[in-house]
Amino acid sequence: TTNTLMTARVAPLGASHILILAEDHTHARRVEEVRRDFVANVSHELKTPVGGIALLAEAVLDARDDPEAVSRFAERIQVESTRLTRLVKEIVDLSRLQTADTLHEPELVEIPQVVAEAVDRLRVAAESRDITLETSVDQRASVFGDAELLATAVGNLVSNAMNYSEPGTRVAVAARRVGDTVEITVSDQGQGIPATEQSRIFERFYRVDAARSRATGGTGLGLAIVKHVCATHGGDVAVWSEEGHGSTFTMRLPAASDRTAADSDRPQVG
Ligand code: ADP
Repeated sequence: TTNTLMTARVAPLGASHILILAEDHTHARRVEEVRRDFVANVSHELKTPVGGIALLAEAVLDARDDPEAVSRFAERIQVESTRLTRLVKEIVDLSRLQTADTLHEPELVEIPQVVAEAVDRLRVAAESRDITLETSVDQRASVFGDAELLATAVGNLVSNAMNYSEPGTRVAVAARRVGDTVEITVSDQGQGIPATEQSRIFERFYRVDAARSRATGGTGLGLAIVKHVCATHGGDVAVWSEEGHGSTFTMRLPAASDRTAADSDRPQVG
């Protein structure tokens, strides 16, 4: 249930009338609660790697005379700081997205290029994990928006698909135009997501299996970022998944209409 919080201001209006101004603070209060939760979560999530690095640094000092132990601890410091860097970047990305409802200067974005960019960044990781990355894209798919944000969103879905799958499986990325919509789907043959968890995975820092997420370098922010990127583009993201059989995530974005797409290519005259 949502509690409404109303305030009323009363102002005299001549001798026989008064003016009553009623304001609904429910939304403002919810925004404030969400912000406070986010800050609490962020500090909790930052403490883990920072605390880990401090302990490992201490271990390095204690193990000064054992070069093998020193390099083992140093490697773990490296892993933790990479995670920390990613976490900070994702927190910044997400808070920017949360405060901007719309995009500043949307541009015509070719989705085949976005998919190629996102997949190229992950090709080495896919090979090292023996996962086959397949793409199939419709050349007519374009939207108005921010190419970098869209590539980040597609990249998050592809890296999740790989992280929650076993070696020897396939991850397929497809983009196609369906009527006025561009659909980008990322499918895997991985562990899948229990039905009861599917509505929660888009929440910030929510993980089905925290240990597995940590082990793969996850931050718990990937899908929250995807959701916000879709929303700022006027679209949405949905999941279909069956435990033990795999998952398919679908981003749906309003397509750039053929007319507007052609206009924006044409040089301005006069
Ligand atoms: P994380 O950094 O933990 O991967 P995300 O926000 O990207 O955070 O995802 C939230 C959670 O949703 C993950 O921890 C995982 O439990 C689940 N999840 C996301 N994508 C998949 C997938 N393709 N297959 C199975 N589980 C997934």
